[in-house]
Amino acid sequence: MTPHLTDDELIELFESRASGRAHLGTCPSCHDRWAEFSLLIEGFRDAANRRERDTFDLGAVQRVLEDEKERAQGVFEQHDTVAGDDVATWLRAQDKLRTLGGARVVLERAHADLEVDPQRALLLADFALESAETWTGHPRTMVLLTRGGAHLERANALRALGQFDDALDALASAECAFNAILTGAFDLARVWQVRAMILCARAQYDDAGRLAHKARETFAEFGDDERAQNCGLIEAAVLLERGRTTEARALYEELLAGAESESVFAARVLNNLGTTARKMGDTLAAVHYHARALPLFASHGLLTEVARNRFAQGSAWLRAGNLPEAVPLLDAARTELLGLGMRFEAGIATLDLAEACLAQDQPRVARELCTGLITYFQQEALPHKAQLALAYLTEAMTQEPLQRETLMSVRGRLEAAFSESMAAPA
Ligand SMILES: [Zn+2]
Repeated sequence: MTPHLTDDELIELFESRASGRAHLGTCPSCHDRWAEFSLLIEGFRDAANRRERDTFDLGAVQRVLEDEKERAQGVFEQHDTVAGDDVATWLRAQDKLRTLGGARVVLERAHADLEVDPQRALLLADFALESAETWTGHPRTMVLLTRGGAHLERANALRALGQFDDALDALASAECAFNAILTGAFDLARVWQVRAMILCARAQYDDAGRLAHKARETFAEFGDDERAQNCGLIEAAVLLERGRTTEARALYEELLAGAESESVFAARVLNNLGTTARKMGDTLAAVHYHARALPLFASHGLLTEVARNRFAQGSAWLRAGNLPEAVPLLDAARTELLGLGMRFEAGIATLDLAEACLAQDQPRVARELCTGLITYFQQEALPHKAQLALAYLTEAMTQEPLQRETLMSVRGRLEAAFSESMAAPA
């Protein structure tokens, strides 16, 4: 990392888009100081009066914050295994977390929990917000930054839980707090990123693409390459949904060129390149991309992605008519998906495998697979559309011979039910 910015350099950044700005996206400490200066500079716009900032003891403010954070870290170190419903009760008893520094530590925990336990992340973010009334002795900018951060973390957790309406409300609150800070641009981009993800899931592609692009440019300007890359993924997904496959492919290629070769991010981009190539009818390229992603997912222990990847490869081979390649991949993927409880994808993989069996002139095996699928899904509470797909399959099974077209039609219905269940607000 480049060295921390001096006070004068931070002030310079208000006047120009100096290159030092790239440091702010990767250094929370300088970002805070920068935000603090904005408060001071707001009052002392006149260059001659700039030295007035010396009357404000920024060092003391930082020391109070560090002290509060340290005490909060200590609380978590002693109780790191609190889980489930107990979290809310436990949090309420922790006075050392009811400070602004404490809230920042709580929010870091919430962010780390996001993927594994969004419910817990939500409880933590809610606690940070509730504690805001007891934050004392901090300048207004710091309070706004932390409050905005708490709303943002709440939105992240709600999005992960599929509660999109509440997540959008939380984003509006975060935006309001960040807008009140002169240096809020970077934090506003974080709001746009989450909003873009939600809009994309809700098929509002124009707005999603526009926001993701704006956020990507802002993150790039602030040197936050990781966030910029993730926004690029949203942008490319929007292009793909819009059928602009050539542009999507070009953007994925660009993201791949900038990614670390062994990273999970590179694996995701490769996987998306595979999907794009498939939509363009280029099966060989699709399988090639997917095959490059598989060992990366495996080395990072991402079992769900490994199963999905094998499924994508098998499915691409099936569409290209290469059954010897398709069957073992689909068979393995189906077992993995079932084991991981990914029921929709397991169902679709089963239909693909049955279709391959029909093509290989094994109608009995195909029927067995379909019967198994119906039995498996009978024990599940399914969305209406999926129930219809299954009823259609049950009906088709009474006819002889079982047709490939029938299986493909059921697959299409099940896939539509699956995307709907992913996008629907809870
Ligand atoms: Zn720094």
